[in-house]
Amino acid sequence: MNQQSAVVPFFPCVVGADVVEYRDRGLIDVTDPSSGAVIAQIAACGPDEVSAAVAAARSAFDGGEWSRLTVTERGRLLHKLGEAITQNAATLAEWESRDTGKPHAQAKADMVAAARYFEFYGAAADKVHGESIPFLAGYQVQTIHEPYGVTGHIIPWNYPAQMIGRSCAPALAMGNAVVLKPAEEACLTPIKIAELALQVGFPAGAINVVTGYGAEAGAALTAHPDVDFLSFTGSPEVGVLIQTAAAKNHIGCTLELGGKSPQIVFADADLDAAIPVLMNAIVQNGGQTCSAGSRALIQTDIFDAVMARLKEGFAKLTAAPWKDDGNLGPLISKTQKARVEAFIAKGGGDDAPLAARGQISKQTSEDGAFVAPALFGPVAEDHILAQEEVFGPVLSCIPFTDEEDAVRIANNTDYGLVASVWSADGGRQMRLAKRLRVGQVFLNCYGAGGGIELPFGGVRKSGHGREKGFAALHEFSQIKTIIQNHG
Ligand code: ADP
Repeated sequence: MNQQSAVVPFFPCVVGADVVEYRDRGLIDVTDPSSGAVIAQIAACGPDEVSAAVAAARSAFDGGEWSRLTVTERGRLLHKLGEAITQNAATLAEWESRDTGKPHAQAKADMVAAARYFEFYGAAADKVHGESIPFLAGYQVQTIHEPYGVTGHIIPWNYPAQMIGRSCAPALAMGNAVVLKPAEEACLTPIKIAELALQVGFPAGAINVVTGYGAEAGAALTAHPDVDFLSFTGSPEVGVLIQTAAAKNHIGCTLELGGKSPQIVFADADLDAAIPVLMNAIVQNGGQTCSAGSRALIQTDIFDAVMARLKEGFAKLTAAPWKDDGNLGPLISKTQKARVEAFIAKGGGDDAPLAARGQISKQTSEDGAFVAPALFGPVAEDHILAQEEVFGPVLSCIPFTDEEDAVRIANNTDYGLVASVWSADGGRQMRLAKRLRVGQVFLNCYGAGGGIELPFGGVRKSGHGREKGFAALHEFSQIKTIIQNHG
């Protein structure tokens, strides 16, 4: 342990009714990406700690207090947790900013969303019901929605507080007991929220959090034979490992694996409305958003005019430490910064000219992971900057000729998460909405994943399954059909 880390707080795991300081397998330093300073430590858990968490969840689900609550009582608890997040929003938002580097205004907005996940699913818990199905004479058939049991949740570092809500709240609403492995790079607010859950009265084992590296704690959770369902958000590469682990245990999983989402701008679009949204969709959270709008498809008639406005906008964007509330903060780590800068270095040629770069605030530390936003265009549609997810503040602008061309280019990546269409023509909006191979389409707007109420998820390399909205309640439950011969 170095001198600096000796004085920082230790963020424990939450297992059963206890807050546990696992220290045996070593500690992980959590750093502030604005400065590189160590701000906290977490445990590097492995199979034993994961097994303890899974056992606690199993006891909660199989006969524990959690399993005996009525659905309305479960809903009330979720609601109380949402309220507790709101009451503690100032402290949570500060930890979120320090942990991820994100601008403080963004972190505060994230706490509103995190609370809302628990409130939405708390209110929805007792509104999921089955069907009565007409069948043979003398029979009565009905379906009920049952929880899986123990659900394993692996989340990324970009929106830690929102992600515990998005992933765990619907699973809890349906009566599952959850084990969460947050990302080692940023996991402080999920731990705090799990502690709040115990304080507001969640029974032992309903919500468990184990920290650690993906290849150790994460892999142990996904391989655990007593986990009944997995939910993963992260990279496509790890998504394959998760799906393989799920297959080995014959369980299901939802995967949300990112995207290369197109924002399609037709010549008849309201550019005053579109341009700020185009920029925000890639700059928000430093572009570290699965549903970031990382490709702008712009009709050739207006390509130069739109580029001129984007150039002007990009040149003014500033990456700054979280306290300064710049347009974006640093990226999550120096590793991620190096990865994004390597992508930027692949542009600059005739097939992807660099059009503009933003700035890095003078207040930044040399040890911060800051990247100045980059605008490229016209980018060839098969260029790496038009095909691969950069996960940083990099916008690739690609010209298209007509509707047919727009659909072809939009669908021409391995991903399919979200898309937007900017046009005054209502018929065109709907024609495109139907032909775009994605899970969400925004018409004359862009919501980076949309609201909590709206089903969200992808196709192909963006994953499968739907989170958010009522759809998530169906993902985290299974239908049982009961057939009665009543004579
Ligand atoms: P990112 O590129 O966003 O860091 P990753 O897919 O590497 O995304 O990580 C997302 C989450 O998956 C993190 O919580 C990480 O610890 C976890 N993870 C990484 N590798 C594995 C693995 N082999 N098994 C299970 N979880 C993993």
